[in-house]
This record gives sequence, C-alpha cells and structure tokens, in this order.
Amino acid sequence: MKKLSIFLLGLLLLTSCKKEPKYVFYFIGDGMGAYEVLATQMYNAELKGNIGIEPLCFTQFPVASLVTTYSATNGVTDSAAAGTALATGHKTKNGALGVVNDTTKVNSIAYWAKANGYKVGISTTVGINHATPGAFYAHQASRNNYYQIAGDLVASNYDFFAGGDFIDPENKKSRAENYTESAYSIIEKGGYTIARGYSDFEAKAATTDKMVLFQAEKKGDSLPYAIDQTDEDLSLADITRAGISFLTKDASSKGFFFMIEGGKIDGAGHANDAATEMYEVIDFDNAIKVAYEFYQQHPDETLIVVSADHETGGMIVGNGAYALSLKTLANQKCSAGAFTSKLKNLRIKNQNKVSWEEVQALLKEYFGFGDAVKLTEAEEAALKAVYDQTFQNKEVQMEESLYENNEPMAGEAKRIIDKKSSIGWTSGSHSAGYVPLFAIGVGAEAFNAQVDNTEIPVKMAEIAGYVHE
Ligand SMILES: [Zn+2]
Repeated sequence: MKKLSIFLLGLLLLTSCKKEPKYVFYFIGDGMGAYEVLATQMYNAELKGNIGIEPLCFTQFPVASLVTTYSATNGVTDSAAAGTALATGHKTKNGALGVVNDTTKVNSIAYWAKANGYKVGISTTVGINHATPGAFYAHQASRNNYYQIAGDLVASNYDFFAGGDFIDPENKKSRAENYTESAYSIIEKGGYTIARGYSDFEAKAATTDKMVLFQAEKKGDSLPYAIDQTDEDLSLADITRAGISFLTKDASSKGFFFMIEGGKIDGAGHANDAATEMYEVIDFDNAIKVAYEFYQQHPDETLIVVSADHETGGMIVGNGAYALSLKTLANQKCSAGAFTSKLKNLRIKNQNKVSWEEVQALLKEYFGFGDAVKLTEAEEAALKAVYDQTFQNKEVQMEESLYENNEPMAGEAKRIIDKKSSIGWTSGSHSAGYVPLFAIGVGAEAFNAQVDNTEIPVKMAEIAGYVHE
C-alpha cells in the first residue's frame, strides 16, 4: 500500500512536471530597456506623491531577469537581428530577418507552434511587416524588403495578424517592371480576410479562419502613439483582446502562441521623447493586463513571457540632482511628432506669419510651459532663439530621428521638459543596455536567471513542448 502510494505520488509529480501550457503569450517591448521600465514605475509613483515605484502589471510577475541583446556582428543590435534572435534562437547580422549570417533561412517559435498544431497570432503597434513581427514569419536578407516581407506572411499560414498597416504595400521603394499587385491583394488571394478597426473585426471574425486586422483609418503604417490616441483608435489592448478571441474561437483547437509587440516604445526612444515613451510602456502594460486576465481564467494552462529586443536612447533616470522630478512629464500632452503637426497647422493657418505669443500659447497648452512648468530665463531664451531661427527665416532645418522629422521647436520643448524631469539620454540610437524579462505561468521559473536573447524562444518551445528542428 505504502509502495503504491509512493508510486502514485511519483506519477503525479511526473505528470505535473510535464505539464505544458496550452496558451503562450510572448510580449516584446521594442526598445524597452530596464530603465524605461523603471522610469515608468517611478513616474507613476510620483504621480501618486510617492518616491519609489508604482508597479506595472507585468513587473509584478513572479519571475524577473535580465537579457543580453548583442547581435552576431554588432555589440549594439538592431531590431531585425534582435527580432530574429528572439523569434528563432539564432544570432544574425544587423538588418537580417529570419535568416542567419550566410542568409540560410531559420524558422521561428511561431512556425514551430503552428507545425505542432497550435493557432498562431502575430501583432504589433507598428507595420505588420516591420522588423520584430517580420522575424516571426519572414525570411529576408534585408529588413527593408517590406513588400517581400508582406508576401512571406501568406506562406506562414498563421491564423491572426494585427498592426497599424503594411509599410510600403505598393512596393514604391523598389517596384519592378513586372509589378502587378499590392500586398493587400496578395494576402487576400492567400486566403486572409482584412478587417479595418475593431468593429469590422467583430463583424468578420466568425466567418474566416485567417485574419489580418489593421487600424480603421490609415494614420501612417503604425498606430498613433498612445499619448496621441483617441478612444476611436485601435489600441494594443484591443489587438490583444481581438487576438485572444480569434485564436480561441475553435473550441477543439490545441491552444495558441501569440506574439504581441509594443513597437513604438522604440520610436519614442529614438526621438528622446520621455513622456511619449512612458505612455507607450503604460500602453504595452495595458495590453499585458488583457493577457493577465486570460491567465487568471486559465492559470494552469498559460505562460506569459514579457521581454524586449534592445534598449533605445541610452535612457537613464537621474541627470545630476539627487531629487527626481518625473511627474513634470505629466504636463506634456502630445508627442513631439504631434506637436510638430500643430506647429505646421499654425503655419498654414497664418500663412507662415506666426507670432511668438502664438507659439508660447501652444507651448503652454501642450507642455505646461509658463504655467505648471516654470521656465528659467535661460530656457525661455533658448525657446525664443529657436523661434527666431525657425519662424522668422524661411528655411527650417527639421530635426530628424529614425522615425520622426520634428520642428526644432518641438525638439527644444521636449529637451527642456526631459531635462527638468531628470531623464537623461545618451543618443538617438540603440544601446547594448540590459533589457528585462518578466514571466508568469506554466514553466515561467525556467527564466529565473540572466539569459541571452537567443535562449528565450528555445526555452519557451521546450516548456510548451513544441517539437522542432
Ligand atoms: Zn530602433
């Protein structure tokens, strides 16, 4: 009897050890380094009047560690090489997507999940054919082959895609003589239904097995920054909700693998726009909350892993003084990009004869300058100098970052508020800074130590029991 109960206990332990998650979420914050997460938590604490942190949903997960991100060729990776590492477990050269250095194709964990009978979803806030999502389904020597990446989407046969839109769907960048059709037409012929916006998704979801969800009205190839979004805009939380409902609609299915990218954290980092970046991290957390609610309903069947591809901007919290003033950022009401549009509209309205008082009024409305945010004489003088240079002369030298082209006034306002908020930036590029990893659910404990980015998909596949090459 005693022997039998030991045997049964052993069997029980063995089966419980072997438990595989039916549902796997893989959240990737593009450009979300360790300090971007810390800054957001300390910012939230200051808004409540506290020094310290106000945790996000994902920072409360029971497992946390740090990830190294260097690529095969560079100490500082780009999103294509990092995406390939996070998706396939292979280091590659910067710029390459779903292929290793010698351009041999390598498959991703999403492909392995699909081959093992799971439903697969790939989603982002940027273009669906951008580097990070692309790394999960495409194989291209260059991340810039946007049209070809979009074409690779059909071959993946994955079940659900979502994002802002396609980048370069008409292949304007390198259109050949024999160009015949847009990326939209290619994916529709490949059996995908396109939905534009959440209500269109709801109307079409029941009658199709393969769905691509874009924002309702094309506002560029990405969703607007969270700080600039209105209630009408599709959000990453909406995308997560839509994906879960689509990937679970077939009750007999084995489960799903779902990658969700907070793709614009990186853009705000490139632009050194701290307030916009905090909102992006909070937006990303809001999407994770949707997955966490799902986890609470299926705690023994779900794994959630949250990480990032690399750090952007070399952000640091604290820029000289021992007192932080992160809450100052709450006075910024739009991204530097959106502020640029407001300045442009003012120029158009006034036929380029814009007064200093009008610019000051905008700075007050969108940055709190001269109101909640007191400016020093030097700061006022710096803003006035930018005004004299860019509103009095005809030629305006725009400030370019990787994804933005901003009015110098927007740039100067952002620099002033970031400096006053104690945020420091090292550059407008990526850094080799640690990125964090947080996990919860079945098998999460496998991530309780420093990992290289290439180890993440391999460990996840092992936990989930995805048999692969
Ligand atoms: Zn980047």
